[in-house]
Amino acid sequence: MTQPVGILGGTFDPVHNGHLHLATTFLEQLKLAEILFVPSNNPPHRPAPLASPEQRLEMLKLAVENHPHLKIDDCELERGGISYTIDTLKLIRNKIDEAPLCLIMGMENFKTLNHWHQWQSLLDYAHIVIVNRPERDENINSEEIKNFMSTFITTAIEDLRDQAAGCILKLDIPMLDISSTQIRNNIHSNLDSESLLSDKVLDFIHTQHLYKQ
Ligand code: ATP
Repeated sequence: MTQPVGILGGTFDPVHNGHLHLATTFLEQLKLAEILFVPSNNPPHRPAPLASPEQRLEMLKLAVENHPHLKIDDCELERGGISYTIDTLKLIRNKIDEAPLCLIMGMENFKTLNHWHQWQSLLDYAHIVIVNRPERDENINSEEIKNFMSTFITTAIEDLRDQAAGCILKLDIPMLDISSTQIRNNIHSNLDSESLLSDKVLDFIHTQHLYKQ
């Protein structure tokens, strides 16, 4: 099998050091060929992003410019409308053929996966790799999700290389306690955000007068 490709979907409103830490750590731990950051156009389960698709894309470009293995796939912005992950996985699966795909997400997303469009088919196209985020309630309450997890869970990283899709892996690696919400709130309140995101992204936010309203 070839090296797996990682996918990190999100609103990236804005992209921050928590995303970059997640991506660079997973790239190394899972020995991924690359990670595709996939900004969503209109996420189905949350309010619309404050920054425009173009602004979020530009911030992503600035954030990953010095990371050769972190790439951006703007297929959801190109597609327009509501962004369903299943459609994105089908598209990327077509492009990369048989290589293993790893859909990376924080536990706060995984625990409500049963609300996602065609969620049970996600594993037909990719593995799912989960990480806990600091300071969040990461208990899974849904029996449906608990069953889904126990059916497909693996603890062997090699499974992600030996199969193209179909496994769930939880990595217990410490993450940074940073969120886009915290950064938007900081900027709105004129509080310092320097340690939370890249200087270039922060400069862009200031130049574009983002998150001030
Ligand atoms: P918001 O505060 O607006 O909800 P966010 O910081 O959660 O944004 P997203 O763009 O929604 O950022 O996240 C994209 C993906 O990255 C999600 O799967 C999320 O769980 C994960 N993620 C975001 N921040 C972190 C972090 N600090 N550590 C680990 N994973 C993260």
